[in-house]
Amino acid sequence: MKIAVIGAGASGITAAIYAKRVNPSNSVTVIERSDRILKKILSTGNGRCNLSNAVIAEDNYYSQSPDAITKILTAFTPCEERQFFEELGIMFCEESSRIYPYSKKASAVCDALRFEVERLGIKVILNTRVKEIKKASQGFIINNLKYDRVIISAGGSAAPIFGTDGNSFNLLKSLGHRITPVFPALVPIKTKENTASLKGIRANCAITLIKNGISVKKEEGELQLTQYGLSGIAIMQLSRLTQKGDIIEIDLIPHLLEDEVTKHLFNRAVLLKERRIEDFLTGILHKPLAMYIYKELSIPLDLKAENLTKKDIINLSKKLKALRFTAVSTLSWEDAQVTAGGALLDEFDLSTLESKICPGLYCTGEALDCVGDCGGYNLHWAWTTGAISGKAAGKGEN
Ligand SMILES: Cc1cc2nc3c(=O)[nH]c(=O)nc-3n(C[C@H](O)[C@H](O)[C@H](O)COP(=O)(O)OP(=O)(O)OC[C@H]3O[C@@H](n4cnc5c(N)ncnc54)[C@H](O)[C@@H]3O)c2cc1C
Repeated sequence: MKIAVIGAGASGITAAIYAKRVNPSNSVTVIERSDRILKKILSTGNGRCNLSNAVIAEDNYYSQSPDAITKILTAFTPCEERQFFEELGIMFCEESSRIYPYSKKASAVCDALRFEVERLGIKVILNTRVKEIKKASQGFIINNLKYDRVIISAGGSAAPIFGTDGNSFNLLKSLGHRITPVFPALVPIKTKENTASLKGIRANCAITLIKNGISVKKEEGELQLTQYGLSGIAIMQLSRLTQKGDIIEIDLIPHLLEDEVTKHLFNRAVLLKERRIEDFLTGILHKPLAMYIYKELSIPLDLKAENLTKKDIINLSKKLKALRFTAVSTLSWEDAQVTAGGALLDEFDLSTLESKICPGLYCTGEALDCVGDCGGYNLHWAWTTGAISGKAAGKGEN
């Protein structure tokens, strides 16, 4: 059987490996538009590749078809995923449930997969962008070559620098599939407030997304302030739900209650009474962030700590517990890690990922309508859907 895999990313390479392993007489060809395979993987997890998570649950994934996610996640288990990588020579290490290769090198994951592609004799065609998949009487024609099965693994629209600019969706639409609305996810947020003076500051916070006065989701983690607004893992996690006008409330001292912060500040104003205001919060906050807060509260900088009024201290503690920013938008596809939305899962057989609309066609990874949380969940989805589709496409009768 001749099988074409379009896209040599995480899910495509996994699909190709399984399609060949399941029947070594299959001819498996991966067609990739860029000049090497697995380019995106090298940049994942800041070059360390957070390839999965020790705690995988359907709650970590978002889709218009949530029941479908549960079925897909159980069709290839984390145990099978672990075995897949161990057989490729990857030893794991774990950091707060995030799984990395033991060497903490994304290149190790790429190399291990590349060695297996070579060992199995999978053909790889580089620098070739698939623009059209034609249906033939039996099978498909791609660039004048006939294939019995086609697996679309060309990713989503996020991070187009890695070759993913929504190609999958055009190919899938041309074959009759519906695509749910797609938008950037795991992406920084642009705010109305000018944060240029705060650029580069990082702080551990609890962050709440508030819509129309109602708290909808809370995340804890490192906040990164940037020239245009807010970034960091906790912000990226909230970005999928964030819309223009939403409030992002930052608790800069999450381990203390507001009363405790107020008490601390009153004691501090006595203890450090000679300190100039601009240095009053030194040891708690980065100075530019403290200055930003004084400006918001109109507290003059030429005061000394002993001149702070009771109202000043109460307002200061309120700000430290609930510094608010207003979302203008998320940043664009260029800055997003993943794509929310994609090919409607209801149009696929969930145990094989074969299209119900176009038999012989399979789809994997970010091209499908599913996005995961930060923490290895998106790569887990890629390996999982790659394995399911590869096994099924490789087994199919011609
Ligand atoms: C900077 C960054 C860091 C990330 N870090 C993590 C992390 O640590 N952990 C995690 O779980 N997730 C992470 N992700 C997300 C994760 O990398 C993706 O969800 C995952 O790679 C998607 O796999 P995929 O196989 O669907 O598509 P991709 O890996 O995007 O691969 C798609 C491939 O298809 C090719 N292609 C596209 N169109 C065509 C065409 N028409 N013809 C031929 N080839 C085509 C592309 O060039 C690309 O190589 C990160 C993403 C980014 C951008």
